[in-house]
Amino acid sequence: QLQIRDVSKSYQVEGRPRLEVLQHAGFDVAPGAFVSIVGPSGCGKSTLLRLIAGLDRDYTGDILVHGERIAGASLSRGIVFQDHRLLPWLTLEQNVGLSLLNSPWPSERKAQSVREHIALVGLSGFEKAYPHQLSGGMAQRAAIARALVNKPEILLLDEPLGALDALTRIRLQEEIQRIWRVEGVTMILVTHDVDEALFLSDKVIVMNAGPGRIVRELDVDLPRPRDRAGARFAHDKR
Ligand code: ATP
Ligand code: MG
Repeated sequence: QLQIRDVSKSYQVEGRPRLEVLQHAGFDVAPGAFVSIVGPSGCGKSTLLRLIAGLDRDYTGDILVHGERIAGASLSRGIVFQDHRLLPWLTLEQNVGLSLLNSPWPSERKAQSVREHIALVGLSGFEKAYPHQLSGGMAQRAAIARALVNKPEILLLDEPLGALDALTRIRLQEEIQRIWRVEGVTMILVTHDVDEALFLSDKVIVMNAGPGRIVRELDVDLPRPRDRAGARFAHDKR
């Protein structure tokens, strides 16, 4: 579905040497896969995600979708950033609806998709709440709903759980897993947490520090996620 081929990216900041962030990065993402990207701070994970999201076109190499170069928005992608980036002056449902501003759908279908996705992330009843009235975990759920509302083929998650407490993290990990199954969306998750990557994904891409290179691609050969979730809780109770 998605192929990253020989992608290099550098940043030039005035008065500083050119920074090579990605060098000949490459990997494949199968349809419906759950891929995690792990690596230390500054290795280029967010940069890579922004390229896949089509938010930055200044790179060399190819990012192919179904074998073709992505031009702009030809592949539907939803993205959840490291911070939730909800607009404080809009309600939850208005924030979720933002992703549908340019959608050709009739307004009834838009409203229905907003309702469904707020329900999907467990926030029904909070439609009229403003971001400051939501907890950190709820705000991340809202950001996930906003990213999913126009039914993207791929959901890109940049450290969505990084700022949350341990318990909320575990809850949301399971929620993300459930959404992955229910929505049938391909997931690419950036995380610092290797356990989280192993718990959730089929494939883990490991990037290194310094010039961001992909050092390993690991297929996670564990029981299916459903069983893993069960195993984890059985273990916790002991
Ligand atoms: P973290 O885990 O802390 O989020 P990351 O792996 O996501 O880190 P990136 O945000 O991709 O890292 O940044 C990689 C490198 O590129 C860093 O050294 C950063 O300073 C640099 N960088 C990122 N964005 C820009 C930019 N717009 N202009 C110049 N340099 C940038
Ligand atoms: Mg980052």
